[in-house]
Amino acid sequence: MEEAPAMTVPSGYLDSHLHLQAQSLTLTMDSILERAEKAGVERMFCNATDEEDWQAVINLAGRGKEDGRLAIVPFLGIHPWFVEGAKAGWEERLLARLQGVPAGIGEIGLDKSCRADFDRQRQVFVAQLQIASALKRPVAIHCVKAWGPLLEILEQFAQEKQLPAIMIHAYGGSTETLQRLIRLGCFISFSCRLIADRKRHPAFLATPLTHLLLETDSQGGLSVAGAMDGAAANAIDEAGGTKQGSEQARNVLPIDIENPETSCSEPADIPGLYAWAAAMRGMEQQELRQRIWKNGEIFTDTLLPR
Ligand SMILES: [Zn+2]
Repeated sequence: MEEAPAMTVPSGYLDSHLHLQAQSLTLTMDSILERAEKAGVERMFCNATDEEDWQAVINLAGRGKEDGRLAIVPFLGIHPWFVEGAKAGWEERLLARLQGVPAGIGEIGLDKSCRADFDRQRQVFVAQLQIASALKRPVAIHCVKAWGPLLEILEQFAQEKQLPAIMIHAYGGSTETLQRLIRLGCFISFSCRLIADRKRHPAFLATPLTHLLLETDSQGGLSVAGAMDGAAANAIDEAGGTKQGSEQARNVLPIDIENPETSCSEPADIPGLYAWAAAMRGMEQQELRQRIWKNGEIFTDTLLPR
């Protein structure tokens, strides 16, 4: 008998972007993972936001494997909101981490809605893109109100060298931008926000099935309603501004600033998004689940065990 191909048999749900490492969640992590497993979630792409949470993401990844079928794939990087806090030498330290663990690079990107210096955002983003290309690691990209600069960077990069595997998380751009991203081979991931935000539906429907991913962008059980009252709402207002604001925002990042009420609160919520997405596209949920599982495997191909 021939050896089975490297790709695993698709069966469960993939949650292609979330943050399980928020410190306030450590006490509830057991129940979050238990509920996710019960809901049939079998793989999650867990993204760091700055150097301070890299170790927590790595720890979570190890834990996912021990807990059975639920796998947590780690992504390490510096989020555009936190570029100003990046300490000298972060590139070398990121490289060293990546050489030690099979991790992708994320969450990185460009965001013109926050107050972090845009040139600095661009520098940190491009540096991480270069590391990803050199090490052949997949990249999770955040982009808000910066589609022009993002396309310019990616298209130029693709002319000069090999683009790494890319997913654009919580896609909120136009259908025209989408076509250019697809031409570059990017995967396009939609969060639960998609359901209520009709402006996003044309881009969702225009995304080829072979490039589609779905995510909760969950903070790991931090309820969105809870996050939006009191101090946390202030933290969101401050996000990307003062250092203090960034510090506070870390605990709630990246709650959707525009439509927080439609976000999912944990990975166990993702079957609802798959069901909605399958109905919108007029296909069986199982078929969609299998396709997205496969897309996730192609995206993280260089990280998966052989
Ligand atoms: Zn995120």
